[in-house]
Amino acid sequence: VKVWTEPQVTVVGSSAFIEPEHMRVDWVGDELVWESQRLIEFAGRLCYMSQANPGRKSTKMYIGHLLEAGHGSVLEHASVSLLIEGVSRALSHELIRHRAGTAVSQVSQRFVEGDVEVRCPPAIVGAPELRADWEADAQRAVSLWLSQLKRMRAVGLRGKPLREAARALLPNCTETKLVFTANLRAWRHIVAARGNKDADAEMQRLVAVVLPLLRAEAPAVFQDFSSAVTPYEPRNHKV
Ligand SMILES: Cc1cc2nc3c(=O)[nH]c(=O)nc-3n(C[C@H](O)[C@H](O)[C@H](O)COP(=O)(O)OP(=O)(O)OC[C@H]3O[C@@H](n4cnc5c(N)ncnc54)[C@H](O)[C@@H]3O)c2cc1C
Repeated sequence: VKVWTEPQVTVVGSSAFIEPEHMRVDWVGDELVWESQRLIEFAGRLCYMSQANPGRKSTKMYIGHLLEAGHGSVLEHASVSLLIEGVSRALSHELIRHRAGTAVSQVSQRFVEGDVEVRCPPAIVGAPELRADWEADAQRAVSLWLSQLKRMRAVGLRGKPLREAARALLPNCTETKLVFTANLRAWRHIVAARGNKDADAEMQRLVAVVLPLLRAEAPAVFQDFSSAVTPYEPRNHKV
């Protein structure tokens, strides 16, 4: 059985910005590479029709001001979609509790009957004296599932009824894949809630991988997050 020790995350979507010819903004700074940030600034400026940029603010300064003021709804215009692989079903169950501003598509255990893979928990990955035992037990759990699958097939179960009955035996560490989309307000909330030391260790590892990717898409939106794994800061919840 394949054992994952780290998540694999790929950006598969990020908001584009199409500036309308009849409503140009007098941008300060050349930051068009981060289109989602321009989209946010454009939407924010519409509220006060301040496209002339009287304060001469760069996009980073403008978004910094939105964060300070708590105008979080403006951040909802932009979203980032991630392909997340190598995470456990335990993690995905926690991740999908984030409902506001998110969309999820996950590999179906009722339809897909491939090889089962597992995600080794961080505490075990970092403990060589436990690792071999843990992997042997994970293998046993997967073997139980496989033998049940065979027995059920032998008595005539097929397709979805077969797979959905057999999957009940799969462990929480079973690897899963998701496309997870969230708007940038929701991503800020998820990173703050799941990147802190009280969160599940696998979640913290995921956030450590996800935050740099989000920063690459919209650095100004995460300018007040200090490190990959953030300390729990209630002020991060402002938006
Ligand atoms: C460290 C940690 C431990 C946890 N332990 C447990 C546990 O033991 N058991 C358990 O069941 N869960 C647990 N959770 C999950 C937690 O209770 C939330 O369900 C999860 O974090 C989703 O966050 P959220 O409620 O902020 O939802 P999101 O969907 O992320 O919502 C973001 C924000 O939008 C607002 N919002 C969203 N929906 C509504 C609504 N319907 N009405 C009003 N406002 C809304 C709220 O301000 C919310 O904070 C834990 C989470 C963490 C981070």
